Amino acid sequence: MKNIKDYNLDELKQELLSLGEKPFRAEQIFKWLYQEQVKEFDEMTNLSLELREKLKQNYTICNFQILKKQESTDGTKKYLFDVLDGNAIETVLMQYHHGKTICVSSQIGCKMGCKFCASTGIAFIRNLTAGEIVEQVLAVQQDIGENISNIVFMGIGEPFDNYEEVMKAVRIFNHPKGLNIGARHISISTSGIVPRIYDFAKEELQCTLSISLHATNNEKRSQMMPVNNAYPIEELMQACKDYIKKTNKRISFEYALAKENNDNLEDAKELVNLLKGMLCHVNLIPINKIENGQFVKSSNEAIFRFRDYLNDHGIVATIRRELGSDIDAACGQLRRNHVK
Ligand code: SAH
Repeated sequence: MKNIKDYNLDELKQELLSLGEKPFRAEQIFKWLYQEQVKEFDEMTNLSLELREKLKQNYTICNFQILKKQESTDGTKKYLFDVLDGNAIETVLMQYHHGKTICVSSQIGCKMGCKFCASTGIAFIRNLTAGEIVEQVLAVQQDIGENISNIVFMGIGEPFDNYEEVMKAVRIFNHPKGLNIGARHISISTSGIVPRIYDFAKEELQCTLSISLHATNNEKRSQMMPVNNAYPIEELMQACKDYIKKTNKRISFEYALAKENNDNLEDAKELVNLLKGMLCHVNLIPINKIENGQFVKSSNEAIFRFRDYLNDHGIVATIRRELGSDIDAACGQLRRNHVK
C-alpha cells in the first residue's frame, strides 16, 4: 500500500477524486498530517468514519521509529530512523542562533563516491520516497515538541539523483497547508549533476542551491569527486551561470578544506578566477574526519588565510561551524545502517 505522505497536495486531490470523494478532503488530510501531525487516520475527526475506513484500506501513514538518538556537546542531535524495510538512515538537528535546522537524507546510501564522504562508503540501496523525506522532519519535530525553521538536503544521498521525490518533498515542506516552511529556508546541495541544475532552474522555487565544488580544476576535482568525470568543471560552472541568469538567485558553493590538498593560496587564486563576477557565496567547510579517510583537516591558520584571500578578492566566504562532529553528525559523516 502507498504511504499517504508520498503525495503532494495536487496528487492527493486526484487520489481523493478517484476514491469518489471531494478534493477539499485532501486539504483536510494535509492539515491533519502536517499541521496536527497525527499518526492514525482515526485521529482525523472531521472525516466521516466511512472515509477513514476507505483511507485505511488504500493507504498507510508512515511513522518512523527512532532507533537511536545521540546528542553532541554543542546541542546537535543525530537520529537513526528505522525506515520500515530493514534499513536505517540518519537525520541531524542543528541549533543555530536563527532557529533550528534539520539536515535530511534523500537516499539510502549514495552512488556519487566522493572520496571524503562516509555516506558513500557502503553500497547504494534505494531512493527515499517524498513521504520518507518529509517524515524525517515530522519525527524530529515530534521528538523535540516544536517546529523547526530550516531544512537542508545535506544528509545521506545525492538529492539530484532522486530529483522527482526531492522536489515533491520540497513542495510538501513549502505548502502553506503542508509544513509551511518558506522556500528561502530550504537548501538543496548537489555534487554537480548538471542536467538537474537546468531542471531546478525551471522549478520557480526560491530554495537555495548549494554546489559541492571542493576543487578548482578537473584533475583535482575528479580525484576527490568521480562525478566530475561525467560533468567537468566547465560544464558545471556554465550550468551555475545559466541558473543565476534565469533565477537571479545566489548560489552557495561548498568547499571542504583538506590539508595540503586544496587549501593553499594557489587554490584560492584559482577559485577567485572561477567565481569572479558570479552572484555567489562560498561556504568553507573544515573537512571532517571519516573512517579510513585519506584527507586531513586544514590547520586553522590555512582556513583563515583561505577565507581572507577570497574576501579580499571580492568573493564572499564564510567558514561553516563544525556542529556535531563529536557524534559523527557533521558534514560527510552520516551513513546508512541496518536495523539490527
Ligand atoms: N550529495 C550532496 C549533499 C550531501 S553532503 C552533495 O554532494 O552536495 C553536504 C556537504 O558536505 C557537501 O558539500 C559534501 O561535499 C560535504 N562533505 C561530504 N563529506 C565531507 C567531509 N568529510 N567533510 C566536510 N564536508 C563534507
